[in-house]
Amino acid sequence: MEYDVAFVGLGYVGLSSAVCFADRGINVLGVDIDAKKLGMIKKLNSPIHEKNINELLEKSIKKKKLSLSKELKDVTKAKIIFLTVGTPSRKDGSIDLKYINQASKDIGIAIKNVQEYFVIVVKSTVVPGTTLRIIENLEKYSGKKNSIDFGVVVNPEFLQEGNAINDSLKPDKVVLGINSEKDKKIMFNLFKKIYRKNLPIVYTTPSNAELIKYANNSLLATKISFMNYIARIAEQIPDGDVEEIKNAIGMDKRISESFLNAGLGFGGSCFPKDVKALIAFSKELNINSDILQSVLTINDTQFMSVFNVLNKELGALEGKKISILGLSFKPETDDIRDAISLKIIKKLLDKKAIVKVYDPIANNNVKDIYGKSISYSSNSESCIKGSECCIIVTEWKEFKSLKPKDFIRLMKRPLIIDGRRIFSKKKFNKLEYHAIGLG
Ligand code: NAD
Repeated sequence: MEYDVAFVGLGYVGLSSAVCFADRGINVLGVDIDAKKLGMIKKLNSPIHEKNINELLEKSIKKKKLSLSKELKDVTKAKIIFLTVGTPSRKDGSIDLKYINQASKDIGIAIKNVQEYFVIVVKSTVVPGTTLRIIENLEKYSGKKNSIDFGVVVNPEFLQEGNAINDSLKPDKVVLGINSEKDKKIMFNLFKKIYRKNLPIVYTTPSNAELIKYANNSLLATKISFMNYIARIAEQIPDGDVEEIKNAIGMDKRISESFLNAGLGFGGSCFPKDVKALIAFSKELNINSDILQSVLTINDTQFMSVFNVLNKELGALEGKKISILGLSFKPETDDIRDAISLKIIKKLLDKKAIVKVYDPIANNNVKDIYGKSISYSSNSESCIKGSECCIIVTEWKEFKSLKPKDFIRLMKRPLIIDGRRIFSKKKFNKLEYHAIGLG
């Protein structure tokens, strides 16, 4: 076989994994139907922003460890085929499997006349039972038999955008939903070339592997919404400060200190969609999911805390100059899918405010949505200049270096809403400083 591995779908997960595998000496084929994306990758220009991705991409292509194709039929040149296509939400929140269905049909057709044994790896996030449907599709279109002519395993991805390369090479764990010893051996032989020796591999059934991914993300989302709920309480009590509560409860090993930051809520392409998909899946099973519904309700309303402050301090917003620092859904990425910044901008424009924004790398993505209805700055100082309120929406490191004197010198009125608790309340108390979870 020409390639060890193929990735079907070169988005955040597919491209990050492809360059990491190639860097470990694996012969990789990357396939995507998006010609524009493929064109950029061929020109060694990663369509996604991730630390070290361009360097790895250049190295992999120059060393001929990564090849590219827009033809799905080319996957038959690889022994192991990873499915890394998107699994977005439908309008009702349930998972939309159109890309998975199309790709599994096309793979089925492609492997029809091939003699070799393949393993198809479901890396995309899919609700329990989906892999069975993928197998049905593969059998239907190839005329071949699962476990005899090909194997299917589930290997959910846990990488965090902004740290995708590091997470792909050094994950905390690898989960493998697997039914046969043969597939286990094939996957183990691949993974031992990529991951550290003592990496915990969790072997389980395909359905459990599918559910592990949803349980993982839904619990992280729950921690965030829980802390935002505590923040709302802290804001109403004298001297309340959610940061002090976070620091204390984070010392409890049973809780751990991560994902306890109160803020304007979570966004991105995973948490909102995965929580919604798990709710919709529970509904099919007649299982009450009030717990996750509350996680979403808190998250959907959390950004309104900004407008509570604005109403109180500025009254009607028509003609008021508001600056926004941070647009991406989290730092170190230019991804704005489901970003909180978009909701805030929309509401500010509805209220006829004059909006100026700055993000170190995501300005252009927001320009594609809001065009000329807002203005874009090339640095934080020019963004806050002349504004009557500055809202910190994403906790980019560079914003932390802004000092109270910068806001006083540059803003028309130094009113700050720290939506991510990046500033010290002691240093900022001479300004009009409002922060999530600060009473
Ligand atoms: P993405 O939208 O960035 O990329 C998906 C890619 O698949 C696109 O480039 C699209 O053109 C391509 N594609 C669609 N149909 C195709 C087909 N038939 N053949 C070839 N290519 C095709 O998605 P993503 O963010 O990389 O997510 C992929 C999956 O991984 C999703 O299920 C997601 O939930 C999961 N996941 C994502 C992350 C993350 O941080 N983005 C983390 C963990 C898991």
